[in-house]
Amino acid sequence: MIFTLFLIAITGIFIGLYAKFYKRIPILMYHRIATVPGERNSLPPEKFKEQLDYLQKEGYITITLNDLYRHYVQQAPLPLRPVVLTFDDGYDDNYAIALPLLRDRNMKAAVFPITNWIGKENKWENFNQQITRTMDWDKLREWKTAEMEIGSHTLDHPFLTQCDEHRLEQELRASKVILEEQLGSTIDFLCYPYGFFDDTIIRVAQKAGYKGALAIYDNVPLWQQDLFALPRIPIPARQSLWEFKLKVGRLHIIFILLRQLERNCKRLLRKLSLLGIV
Ligand SMILES: [Zn+2]
Repeated sequence: MIFTLFLIAITGIFIGLYAKFYKRIPILMYHRIATVPGERNSLPPEKFKEQLDYLQKEGYITITLNDLYRHYVQQAPLPLRPVVLTFDDGYDDNYAIALPLLRDRNMKAAVFPITNWIGKENKWENFNQQITRTMDWDKLREWKTAEMEIGSHTLDHPFLTQCDEHRLEQELRASKVILEEQLGSTIDFLCYPYGFFDDTIIRVAQKAGYKGALAIYDNVPLWQQDLFALPRIPIPARQSLWEFKLKVGRLHIIFILLRQLERNCKRLLRKLSLLGIV
């Protein structure tokens, strides 16, 4: 009897979650498309190609962030299996390797370059790892000509939550203006460095004229849909295909919820162990 009630409760929770979240569109977060041993944010090209082939074979359609915006705000219709692809930091391999693979499949993606690091080496994060270049302005223009999107990833990639309001204004507004002047089109979306944001940052972003902003799934409240806290799912270097399938499926938000729960449990355990309780 108790077991039956438990099963009914679990089924009810599952159906409730599915009904609440099934309209959310998966947004994937990539960085480099390159083989760099030991570097979590560099996805080998053959794995990226395998993922694109899977999306194509299963009938997924890559949509733009503006498509997503129109869907969430104006209820514009979307294809049956939509997915958004995004690239952080604007690495040169996004242009050299990802762009041809995307073009071959008629797929769309958004890139978020760091305005003051365009066409330079990736020294802003000082990973002490393989140095690489970022796309220069001509490559970004070609990216745009291929009907891909470009958004802002700030001027210098700081932790925005540590910036005062004047610096925030600079990072969010000036990066947008420079990109717009150089590329000749409106920059509608912002990507928070390291995924961190708060209410002040959202307010400054809205004032600067962005339509929305992208974060990372573990920092985002999921119960309310917020265009300035769009959750993205990282695709790490060792991404297995079975997990990738979960990340792009209709149930991806449940996957995210479980990962958030796992993170919170780990945080709680760390705190309890610091207090000597466990
Ligand atoms: Zn970044």
